[in-house]
Amino acid sequence: MSRIFYTKPSITEVEMRYAADAVETGWGAKCYDYIHRFERMFREHLGVEYAIATSSCTGAMHMGLAALDIGSGDEVILADTNWVATVAPVMHLGAAPVFVDILPDTWCLDPVQVEKHITPRTKAIIATHIYGNLCDMDALLAIGEKHGIAVIEDAAEALGSAINGKRAGSMGRFGTFSFHGTKTVTTGEGGMFVTSDPDLYERVLTFSNHGRARGQTKQFWPDVIGFKYKMSNVQAAIGCGQMERIEELTARKREILQAYKTKLSGISGIELNPEHPGTVNGAWMPTVVFSEGWGITSEDLQKAFHDADIDARVFFHPLSSLPMFEDKRDEGNAYNVNAWGIPQRAINLPSYHDMTDEDIDRVAATLLDLVAVRGRQSRSAAAR
Ligand SMILES: *Cc1c(COP(=O)(O)O)cnc(C)c1O
Repeated sequence: MSRIFYTKPSITEVEMRYAADAVETGWGAKCYDYIHRFERMFREHLGVEYAIATSSCTGAMHMGLAALDIGSGDEVILADTNWVATVAPVMHLGAAPVFVDILPDTWCLDPVQVEKHITPRTKAIIATHIYGNLCDMDALLAIGEKHGIAVIEDAAEALGSAINGKRAGSMGRFGTFSFHGTKTVTTGEGGMFVTSDPDLYERVLTFSNHGRARGQTKQFWPDVIGFKYKMSNVQAAIGCGQMERIEELTARKREILQAYKTKLSGISGIELNPEHPGTVNGAWMPTVVFSEGWGITSEDLQKAFHDADIDARVFFHPLSSLPMFEDKRDEGNAYNVNAWGIPQRAINLPSYHDMTDEDIDRVAATLLDLVAVRGRQSRSAAAR
């Protein structure tokens, strides 16, 4: 029996062919060809006007927030449940993050909590579609509209996810994506900034080119201090190959989530990534959350997976639990109960493209075995 990894890219002949071609011919006058093609394919897939390929999602977020003039004295609301990459640019810009709780079913921003935390200094709301699950964008966009605050989508985990036909990342003021090696589409490292706002696009385009505006005719003449978060043509070539396979890549993710749901359907009191009416879940990372009643902890789950030689990736720690955000935890025990509670009884499940049905079976069996042991233990405890 071999180790089951939690993610692994799916690289085929087409990605290799494009990458080799970029290495061989993609220089000089052709040094942007794959980049522009990748941006076009991505934009068309998403249904947005503009896309800028970047070196990472973090870089895309940094430039987008900077283009909205977010900085010192401003507050940015985001879910306490997040990867640190979402908040890092907020910190780099000198703004203050405000961590709010998540909903118990989607593990995404609770709109009621968002509205409660709006102050005159709130400049933006970052909606992260965690594990492919969707934020309640209707509610968040309505709040943004009402208070004149930008709603931004961190859609790094949400390729393939959509609400009423609108793809994740296309609904906010801007959206960001990641092509890190663990993501549904990968270029090794990489990201994308998307928007349909022409002014915002121009600002980020200028930022992304060392601050040189598109119309600037003077050579080596930056108009503002910009950033350097560009994607290389070779990476974009891999991205073009991946985008040709986007339907296949996202369909397989969904298939794996569905297989887990079917195999685990006999266990009561667990939740996997939901798919509410009108939504499609891109299922980047199938995740199981046990109800408190089970008494099964993250440590129990990690141990069971470790013993079965399966990667056990823990649910995101609440950002407010990290040492640098200690000062944010000011509300005692009632502070962000879902963001703090859910990770203690949850685990991410492996979901790479090429995993076999036997692999999925083995992961499910590990959970079924753990549950069977727990059931026996609690019955014998009750009999004692
Ligand atoms: C992966 C990820 C990021 C960071 O992406 P990079 O490309 O590594 O910068 C940001 N936000 C979320 C939600 C992610 O999952």
